[in-house]
Amino acid sequence: MAIFPIRTFPDAVLRTPAAEVPVINDGVRRLVDDMFETMYAAPGVGLAAPQIGVSLQVIVFDVGGGPCHMVNPVMLETSGSWTYDEGCLSVPERYWGIKRAGFARARGLNLDGEEVEYAGDELVGRVLQHEIDHLKGILLLERLPRRVRKQALRDLREEAFGLKGSR
Ligand code: ZN
Repeated sequence: MAIFPIRTFPDAVLRTPAAEVPVINDGVRRLVDDMFETMYAAPGVGLAAPQIGVSLQVIVFDVGGGPCHMVNPVMLETSGSWTYDEGCLSVPERYWGIKRAGFARARGLNLDGEEVEYAGDELVGRVLQHEIDHLKGILLLERLPRRVRKQALRDLREEAFGLKGSR
């Protein structure tokens, strides 16, 4: 297993829709292992493969119930709404109150190629929505209200390119 550096905004891989995993082989198993190790080391509660530079549809998460993973996950259902202070390992040390569905249900494959489903309110629903967004090249910034997003993008770009003053 290996810990990978986590790609951060504005890395283009984070904006790129990830490809479906065509076959679950040892490479995919190793990727999932590495993603767990990287996520726990960060530490974080969820990680999508593009965040370590691998543009494939794989997510891992652990919101306290143990390690979960999904290959080629698809969202089946969302409902309700819940605003929660959300962060992302790819936009480090920033949190915004983000409104998303309260409940989410997703289906994917496990490493044995069997269908698995995860569903839940609150943190489970949140992490499913957040990580599946990553696979579409969508960052949490795009879930912010327009004005907040514009300011956040300006701040992050200034920071990323070293344009920020001493404030
Ligand atoms: Zn994230």
